[in-house]
Amino acid sequence: MNENRLSSFKELKARFGDRAILETDEYADYATDASDIVVKADAIIFPESESELVEIVSFCREGRVPIIFRGAGTGYTGGAIPVPGGLVLSLERLKKLEIDPEKKLAYCGPGIITIELMREAERHSLFYPPDPASYEESTLGGNVAECAGGLHCKKYGVTKDYIIGLRAVTLHGELLETGIYSTGELFDLSSILIGSEGLLAAVTEIAVRLIDLPEFGPTILAAFANPEDAARTVSQVTREGIIPSVMEYMDGDAVLCSNAYEKSIEIDGAEAILLFETTGPGRFDEADRIEKVCRRHNTIHLKRENSRDESERLWKIRRNLSKAVKEAAGRKISEDVCVPPSRLPELVGFVSQLDNKYPVRINSYGHAGDGNLHVNFLAETMEEAEMAVINEGIRRLFDKTLELGGTLTGEHGIGLTKKEFLNLEFDEPTISHMKKIKSAFDPDNLLNPGKMFL
Ligand SMILES: Cc1cc2nc3c(=O)[nH]c(=O)nc-3n(C[C@H](O)[C@H](O)[C@H](O)COP(=O)(O)OP(=O)(O)OC[C@H]3O[C@@H](n4cnc5c(N)ncnc54)[C@H](O)[C@@H]3O)c2cc1C
Repeated sequence: MNENRLSSFKELKARFGDRAILETDEYADYATDASDIVVKADAIIFPESESELVEIVSFCREGRVPIIFRGAGTGYTGGAIPVPGGLVLSLERLKKLEIDPEKKLAYCGPGIITIELMREAERHSLFYPPDPASYEESTLGGNVAECAGGLHCKKYGVTKDYIIGLRAVTLHGELLETGIYSTGELFDLSSILIGSEGLLAAVTEIAVRLIDLPEFGPTILAAFANPEDAARTVSQVTREGIIPSVMEYMDGDAVLCSNAYEKSIEIDGAEAILLFETTGPGRFDEADRIEKVCRRHNTIHLKRENSRDESERLWKIRRNLSKAVKEAAGRKISEDVCVPPSRLPELVGFVSQLDNKYPVRINSYGHAGDGNLHVNFLAETMEEAEMAVINEGIRRLFDKTLELGGTLTGEHGIGLTKKEFLNLEFDEPTISHMKKIKSAFDPDNLLNPGKMFL
């Protein structure tokens, strides 16, 4: 670390005491995220108010210290990894949570964990639907920065569909107020900040709309001997205009991992499982229609649970998936491609073929209703030859996804791990305008440098 930077950190330490960490070795969690890339931070700081944040950011700009905003570090693409060094600015202690039940709104600090908002809303018979599978850990700030999707997003939409205003601190220490925090409707800055992956400003407050808590109906588990039959079921359910609140897919190997992690439901011959949840007035009729589509597509096992409590048993297999797959390998490289639901059978077929052909274990699961598929490459040795095979597989997966009219990132963002692929999906004028927006907010490239763009 250069002398100037060190003296900047010492000044921060003098001002913030034990909330500024210079000996970062003991904070190993803050050197990584779910990508498993590890880079030690030069320093870590825990502001507790917006005004402290303004102070820190202004201080870093003057000292030209890179800043990496961090929520809970559950991101899959290395967005919160401190490359190339700098200050990790954790927003986890900004924990405001106010619900206005009359207006069905919530005002949240970025450090609120997604499930904290969901639980508090539920106490008022209200619902905040965007629920990434990491909802027990991820922060709302991270959800905004990645525009997180989740299990309920098929029916209810993703994070951006619920944000009605943001407060954010820029590199120049200015406070931006968008949506309901401002008066005008010109230039929608919320939509520029949502999904900006910590490259433009620190999100310091989030206003979200809530909806009435729906009545939860039957949950259905359907098993298939052929993954493509499961994917065709998803397409057909969509084609028939049925909109379950959740429609999750997991292949046989992912189910195997889940059961090895914690035994839940084992079904002989199941090469894929679909999990459906229904809500709202037509829920029982919807559940009947879903079961019919499953039968027409050769389901080998159908199980329905009618109450929310009973259905927990079925959800267990899904909840453990991410950790279970990770535990089954030396390293899990997880891609989150997404295609139009009508093309899901082709994508699932392609992944099965890839798995059969490749000398690396591959499995997949995802929010199938949205066409989202998390394809996991499970590395054992992590040696050069194995990683080369995996990289080749990822490249083929991306080519196929784009051929099917899909996107390379359904929800996990670009961050560090996907930046070399940005130009596969976006054309040059689009990337060039993204870069111009970045430099308008951050001319010195101090906010989360080294991410998103090559
Ligand atoms: C088990 C598991 C399941 C997952 N399931 C899903 C899923 O279903 N759907 C989904 O979308 N994602 C999923 N994810 C990915 C991840 O949880 C989401 O991307 C989540 O939104 C990240 O939140 P975080 O608080 O952990 O952010 P972090 O990982 O800490 O940061 C992510 C990015 O946001 C930036 N950032 C964080 N806070 C702020 C802020 N206040 N202001 C500005 N920038 C900020 C960081 O700089 C970084 O670039 C999953 C991850 C895991 C480990």
